[in-house]
Amino acid sequence: MKFFSTRDHSRIVTASQAIAQGLSDEGGLFVPESFPQVDVETLCQLDYPELAAAVVSEYLTDYSKDFLAEAARTTYGEAFGGKAGHLAPVEGDTYALELWHGPTCAFKDYALQLMPKLLVEAKKNLSRTEKTLILVATSGDTGKAALDGYHDIPGVEIAVFYPTGGTSEIQRLQMATQEGANVAVYAVRGNFDDAQTGVKRVFGDKAIAARLAERNIRLSSANSINWGRLVPQIVYYFAAYAQLLKAGKIAFGDKVDFCVPTGNFGDILAGYYAKQMGLPVGKLVCASNQNNVLTDFLSTGTYTAKREFYKTTSPSMDILVSSNLERLLYHVTGSDAEVAGLMKSLNETGGYTVRPETLKAIQESFDCGWSSEEQVAGEIRARCEKDGYLCDTHTAVAFHVAAQKKRDGVPMVVLSTASPFKFPRSVLEALGHTAPENDFEAMQALEEATGRTAPASLAVLRQKAERFSTVIDPAQIAEVALSCQA
Ligand SMILES: *Cc1c(COP(=O)(O)O)cnc(C)c1O
Repeated sequence: MKFFSTRDHSRIVTASQAIAQGLSDEGGLFVPESFPQVDVETLCQLDYPELAAAVVSEYLTDYSKDFLAEAARTTYGEAFGGKAGHLAPVEGDTYALELWHGPTCAFKDYALQLMPKLLVEAKKNLSRTEKTLILVATSGDTGKAALDGYHDIPGVEIAVFYPTGGTSEIQRLQMATQEGANVAVYAVRGNFDDAQTGVKRVFGDKAIAARLAERNIRLSSANSINWGRLVPQIVYYFAAYAQLLKAGKIAFGDKVDFCVPTGNFGDILAGYYAKQMGLPVGKLVCASNQNNVLTDFLSTGTYTAKREFYKTTSPSMDILVSSNLERLLYHVTGSDAEVAGLMKSLNETGGYTVRPETLKAIQESFDCGWSSEEQVAGEIRARCEKDGYLCDTHTAVAFHVAAQKKRDGVPMVVLSTASPFKFPRSVLEALGHTAPENDFEAMQALEEATGRTAPASLAVLRQKAERFSTVIDPAQIAEVALSCQA
């Protein structure tokens, strides 16, 4: 399987190159040249690590199958407590695909626990010996998941940038307390898009790349623009389908709808890949919070990033520039020139409009909706009171939209992307309690109010020392990169 850039077909790379490099030199994203067709029925009989190896190896064809099998086994076994891809019944034929049983309690663990292994192997495959400097812009969950995945990985340094005040206190502490000799964490003045734009600028700056290359350092990305981030996320769509089959809730071939709380469009795009590979997916419902740029785009064909930015209770979805949408635009238009034009327009004017045929093709696979802050809180409370199901704010965005888009006779799987204990204050308030200012007291109060236990990896943060407290401007991200030692 070869990969090429969404903005220039002639830039062709292997999977190892795509993963080691992250972004194509001219700014495009790497996409696979085709969608591998799989025998879904056979895949549905595998356990999670086997399924992960089978799906990922369809794309990473220059990796050995033995390596991928071993990597998947060590990644998705114990670290996920036997709950990788766990599907929980919620109400009727609506389910929650609980993706937060990994070490940092958010779905990004699925990608970021595997990615470091994929990167080290990519460098081996390419006979490369340089130091890899990973720069990550995060609205919260990516940062911690990347730090946890990459800490003390040989030949790698990682620097994480999060927007000041844009994360929950728990998320901030998860990052600020990260151990490891090869990690650094910075708060960036501004919102997530300021941090992401700052990181993207460094990636696009040839002079910085040249100065780092002199010291045998090469930049790479762990953001969901990296193919290595996306590919592990395809797996759990298959796992959800397999569990519905096994439980006798569907017959093979029946369609299943998925509702995905969306920010950068990575998680939901993985569902599109699963569908293109042959999984019987009905609609992929894109759920947004008040930053509903994707709802507007998917309903009108016009993308407008120039709009008011809201800080919501689902901070990992507070995003106005959804990077992975570029991959979808490529797959539906099949034209690198067209995508390059749209992205140029996005850069220069803050938006673009796709052709009516393009919008129609997108709408064949995607539906959309959004939830206001009141609706998110109402949803958390309703799920808890009616179904005894406790969900976090991001998942609640999706539950609210899923209820509106639910089709009779078609099961709806809601991707549950974070543990409710990661956002204890918002969840408590939604349940009608007054939340203590302190996140840890809120965590405890949430345990008492619901009779559930907070994940140990979150509760332990209270005792950990903070290691990082530096605040910088977006323009200083370049200096941070250049200060990396070989
Ligand atoms: C990152 C994240 C999302 C959004 O996922 P995208 O792939 O960026 O669309 C949703 N919920 C949580 C909890 C997240 O961490």
